[in-house]
Amino acid sequence: MTNSAFPQPLGGNEMPRFGGPATFMRLPMIDSPRSLDVAIVGVPLDIGTSNRPGARFGPREIRAESCLLRPYNMSTRAAPFDSLVIGDAGDVALNTFNLEASLDIITRHYAGLLESGTVPLSLGGDHTITYPILRALAHRHGPVGMIHVDAHADVNAAMFGERITHGSWLRHAIVDGLVDPHRTVQIGLRGTGYTAADFDWMREQGGRVVQAEDCWHRSLSPLMDVVRSELGDGPYYLSFDVDGLDPSVTPGTGTPEIGGLTSAQGLEIIRGCRGLQLVGADVVEVAPAYDPSGNTALVAANLAFEILCALPGVATR
Ligand code: MN
Ligand code: MN
Repeated sequence: MTNSAFPQPLGGNEMPRFGGPATFMRLPMIDSPRSLDVAIVGVPLDIGTSNRPGARFGPREIRAESCLLRPYNMSTRAAPFDSLVIGDAGDVALNTFNLEASLDIITRHYAGLLESGTVPLSLGGDHTITYPILRALAHRHGPVGMIHVDAHADVNAAMFGERITHGSWLRHAIVDGLVDPHRTVQIGLRGTGYTAADFDWMREQGGRVVQAEDCWHRSLSPLMDVVRSELGDGPYYLSFDVDGLDPSVTPGTGTPEIGGLTSAQGLEIIRGCRGLQLVGADVVEVAPAYDPSGNTALVAANLAFEILCALPGVATR
């Protein structure tokens, strides 16, 4: 039933799932990503983390666990590999000794990808990576709307004097005009703050903040209906920090917070983005060493697949 005009994941009946290439879903590795509608890109950076490091190993582990995924979404009937050219474009060769230099390397890398209209789906890496990706995206699309799933607001002014870190990227993306705060929603925020006003900055910019307590014990599909109808048209970016989910679901991350979203709520958020003009997305903050079960990377791989299924132009079967 697959459409051979498009690159396909290597199937589990062609090669045992534990064999074959360690690309995302065992898709073809693409050396010339400008031919792609969607490029899977690994960004193995974790020198922007404030607590536990280790997200540099995220892309590799997400790819490894993605071998379990099959090409059809049995809930939404989305069939991303029947209608889009999707490939694994490898990793960004960042400079792990220099955060600022790495940000520039990432922006340049994505600027090249975006020249032909490719939608990047990025695997982190810590959340710092979203800022340089947005710099490239905004250069092409103008300010983007933001669907931001996270336990943390990521709007610190600076951390130890560094402007762009995993806890400050979103503030600077807004201040620098890369993200439109009026088309921004943060979902899953919780825990302890540096100040009691930590979640107010986004509201003061005109953004929406949906704290985790407002998500507990309920479906998030109605929230996403509101997001789609009220935030307006234009390009959007979906940034999914896996610590937005509860640490019982995604313990393998650097700054876990209890009382988080369920994996089903994560699916509802992503599925609720279908219909938005997503021009890029990421799944970040997988630090595999803190989860020897591999489940965090497995969850992240599934979230990335669900994002593929929510992109514009995906067929349903
Ligand atoms: Mn984050
Ligand atoms: Mn976080």
